Amino acid sequence: MPQKFTAELDVVVVGAGFAGMYLIHKLRGLGYSVRAFDTASDVGGTWYWNRYPGARCDVRSLEYSFSFDPELEQSWEWSEKFSTQPEILRYANHIADRYNLRPDIQFNTRIESQIWDDERARWTVTTSNGDVIDAQHVVLAVGTLSAPKLPEIPGIETFKGEWYQTQKFPKEGVNFFGKRVAVIGTGSSAIQCIPEIAKTCEQLTVFQRTPNFSFPAGNRPLGRQEVDATKSDYAGVRQEARESFFGQTGPVATQSALEVSEEERTRKYQEGWNDGQLISILGAYDDLITNKEANDSVADFVRDKIREIVKDPVTAEALCPYNHPVGTKRPCLDTGYYNTFNMPHVRLVDLLKNEIVEITETSIRTTAEEIEFDIIIYATGFDAMTGSIVNIDTHGRDGVSLKEQWKDGPATYLGLMVAGFPNLFTVTGPQSPSVLSNMMVSIEQHVDWIADCIDHLRKQGLRTIEATPQAQNEWVAHTNEVAAETLYPLANSWYMGANVPGKPQVFLPYIGGVGLYREKCDEIVEAGYKGFALSN
Ligand code: FAD
Ligand code: NAP
Repeated sequence: MPQKFTAELDVVVVGAGFAGMYLIHKLRGLGYSVRAFDTASDVGGTWYWNRYPGARCDVRSLEYSFSFDPELEQSWEWSEKFSTQPEILRYANHIADRYNLRPDIQFNTRIESQIWDDERARWTVTTSNGDVIDAQHVVLAVGTLSAPKLPEIPGIETFKGEWYQTQKFPKEGVNFFGKRVAVIGTGSSAIQCIPEIAKTCEQLTVFQRTPNFSFPAGNRPLGRQEVDATKSDYAGVRQEARESFFGQTGPVATQSALEVSEEERTRKYQEGWNDGQLISILGAYDDLITNKEANDSVADFVRDKIREIVKDPVTAEALCPYNHPVGTKRPCLDTGYYNTFNMPHVRLVDLLKNEIVEITETSIRTTAEEIEFDIIIYATGFDAMTGSIVNIDTHGRDGVSLKEQWKDGPATYLGLMVAGFPNLFTVTGPQSPSVLSNMMVSIEQHVDWIADCIDHLRKQGLRTIEATPQAQNEWVAHTNEVAAETLYPLANSWYMGANVPGKPQVFLPYIGGVGLYREKCDEIVEAGYKGFALSN
């Protein structure tokens, strides 16, 4: 029986975060019929969901923003070096209003499945509202850090007090005043919210499984001069970011950490510490992410800082990371994190010594003790990079399931397309620089590339494009080779899929650098979409 469609579109976009919003604007501008879908009730993606206290970006706001419209970047005013979640969400809303995007977004709607019809060369997309959409292309703008993860702790469902996930924090906020609060996790989200929660709660207990490297953000209001300096040459700033390694302007190291004296190194690290940007310290020398001895020098520097700041020596030592090189788990920028442990009502529980056994109706029980709480905050991360993609039931050519095809780890060509899944694009997908970059730069690059590609097909009278298995295999092999030259595989990180039980452990992003990656993508287009099969 022929399928009844509720809509026919050129492009279905899944997600209405920054990637989804820019896709609508760009594709609509080229004359395509496009609709985005999001489970959220409004735009913003990450910045819609992650409303925990202290949430803010850790790439300079002036660069963590869109560059595609010179008038937009000139007229928008950021108030702080690193903007808060409410301010970034206001910016997302401003984008939606300025470009009138909402008429083309369906909120409160989950995309549940997408099935490729080989005969018609089109996708059938079904939503949680019962819509069945016929689309030529599907673009997954589902986010890399958008599938929240609760820990696998026995009894978690029995807790009778209040509990929240940082990744889905309530819009109305949470009142911590006078409450006994537990935070589980010490990644970026926890490190941002712990100092804020400590300000009002009665008692705060932080459950730490792996200590992380964190650097002071040195956040501050933006001065007029600083803003004007960027705005007077925004095009230049953006170009430098696009050509850089991490998608941000900053120092470009040309020297090994081991070539200079210890005094010189310490001086440089102190400069980075004072500057409050991850790239200032990690980019201080060119071998910090490739040479363990070089990396140890910066690790020692941070551990000394922790011992200097945290007064109780046992707590200080427990906060010192030893089991992974700096940068191989996502490092954090904080505002007063280590100092928070000097407050009398704040306590660290070191799970490496005594792990959590269970959560009961009233408490968290470790192998050493049982502590009662009014509120538990789970800051336990995401099924990163692949979670939101494989959560959609996707079947490509010959009915092959994407989840099944990726059971040993994702395989993509450029993090943009997957062999066997024609006309299906991923924004900042696995094996692209993605989470190792200023995401705004990577999102814009991918959206531009995808829109140009779709337009190329139309202009050439072509109907489909897909990655060839050979090009995909070569790209995956290349991404693995590059990762193997770094220290990243040494850590049990979400970059490696290690935080999700049963997830294959492969390095998920591409660490070849944003600038180099962009060049490769452009060269492939210039060579007639080399490695892709195009057909009519
Ligand atoms: P998202 O913002 O994640 O949006 C994806 C949207 O897709 C979500 O709204 C989700 O609901 C929707 N979706 C997913 N699956 C479906 C489905 N099946 N059906 C319907 N809708 C679906 N990056 C930086 O570069 N710098 C930073 O400082 C920085 N800070 C961050 C702070 C936090 C707390 C987090 C979690 C991430 C941070 N990131 C940062 C990464 C951040 O995710 C990106 O910068 C960027 O916001 C991603 O935008 P996006 O549109 O690609 O995805
Ligand atoms: P995360 O980095 O994955 O941290 C999760 C934390 O929870 C880790 O400390 C982890 O410990 C712990 N954990 C998980 N399961 C546990 C369990 N069963 N028992 C005890 N502890 C457990 O997640 P996140 O903090 O949400 O950050 C995710 C990413 O989002 C970041 O890396 C960053 O890219 C982005 N982000 C950025 C900012 C910013 O500053 N702009 C802020 C927030 C998030 P282990 O390490 O031992 O697994």
